[in-house]
Amino acid sequence: MATLERPGLLQLPVYHADDSNATIRLDANERTKNLPEPVRKAVVDRLSNIAFNRYPEMNMTTLKKMLAAGLGVSLEEVAIGCGSSALLEAACQAFGGMGRKIAYPVPSFSMYEVYVRLADSEPVQLAMDDDFKLDVAAAIKTLAEQQPSLLLLCNPNNPTGTVMTPEELMPLLKAAQCPVLVDEAYIEFSQEVSLLGIQQQFPNLIIMRTFSKAYGLASARVGYMTARPELVGLLERVLLPYHVNAMSLAAAETVFAMRAEFTADIAETIAERQRMAAALAAVPVQVYPSGTNFLFCRFKDPDEAAALFDFLCQHDIGVRDFSRKPLLGGLRITIGTPAENDQVFKMIKLFLDSRRTI
Ligand SMILES: *Cc1c(COP(=O)(O)O)cnc(C)c1O
Repeated sequence: MATLERPGLLQLPVYHADDSNATIRLDANERTKNLPEPVRKAVVDRLSNIAFNRYPEMNMTTLKKMLAAGLGVSLEEVAIGCGSSALLEAACQAFGGMGRKIAYPVPSFSMYEVYVRLADSEPVQLAMDDDFKLDVAAAIKTLAEQQPSLLLLCNPNNPTGTVMTPEELMPLLKAAQCPVLVDEAYIEFSQEVSLLGIQQQFPNLIIMRTFSKAYGLASARVGYMTARPELVGLLERVLLPYHVNAMSLAAAETVFAMRAEFTADIAETIAERQRMAAALAAVPVQVYPSGTNFLFCRFKDPDEAAALFDFLCQHDIGVRDFSRKPLLGGLRITIGTPAENDQVFKMIKLFLDSRRTI
């Protein structure tokens, strides 16, 4: 026996997120508050009536029907995953595989590379410009040269917050000869740029969303996607039976039925994002335009970004550190409640004032 592990396993980047015990937790782009109280009550009520002895619904038909109605598609055009993470992984397994290529933009969600390599596929990285917009012309050229069997896109993009309009992405969608999976994890904060409205024109388009961000259900691990039935069927072949548990399905059904309860908070997050972006820009801190529930800030001196990250930690505020890699000098800050945002801004200002007057 030569080695315990399969070839390449130890070379996979390991996803890292600290289990934060900061009082103000703005490091994982979660909804900062628990579920709205009427929703939380309804979820608890549903959970208390679960037949714990039974397997969950085989085809998740109840939640699929609800999602299909909400998205304006048919039941056969919906797949549900154990987090959208599981759907991403399944897409790479189903459409990628040994000797095939999967293209995705960089910098984007760090897990794309892991799913690509787990599927024994070859990564093809697509470049972004200085504003973190995908270079569409270069991407079209790369697709023609490399002929990937799957293209992953993230819009709005994590960790940069960047938004691409459907018009900007259209030439790429037209050029792609393979399935195109658009990860819309943050779309509730930028409804206007969803590709759902043009999905009919592009039979290869897969649109993926999650309950983990705007809908405050990160604990339950539920994501979903819509694509034409043939693509859904292929992708579902690699999902495990009963992979989403009955408690999570019940929670997601309740949240989706009551999604209007989240509208005001989503609007507040968008308003707070604009307020924070303007306040930080005035300091000045370099803040990128964002269509999400977070802001990406960048410092010329990576040491300054790293020191600010440590300073915020010491003051019980958790943000995501990108100061070393892959985005030199970067910090990603999730938008919290107005009071949390005030505190974050106050501490950033205090830190920078103390250093910049030296
Ligand atoms: C958070 C996130 C996900 C994963 O969401 P889950 O549904 O919780 O697995 C997927 N893509 C992006 C870009 C994310 O930021």
